[in-house]
Amino acid sequence: MKLVCPECKNDVDMSKAPTVEVDHVIECNHCGITLQVTDVKDDTVAVEIVDEGK
Ligand SMILES: [Zn+2]
Repeated sequence: MKLVCPECKNDVDMSKAPTVEVDHVIECNHCGITLQVTDVKDDTVAVEIVDEGK
């Protein structure tokens, strides 16, 4: 699984999310932003930034 954070452009550590499915929420371990999975193809994960409105 490979995921590049759209915010900070770093590779997100996916070791804490061994299984990733659409609508799964992942927190970037670099900038802390919340990302929601929109698509999974082969080893590439597509995400969009979730605005939690804190
Ligand atoms: Zn990030």
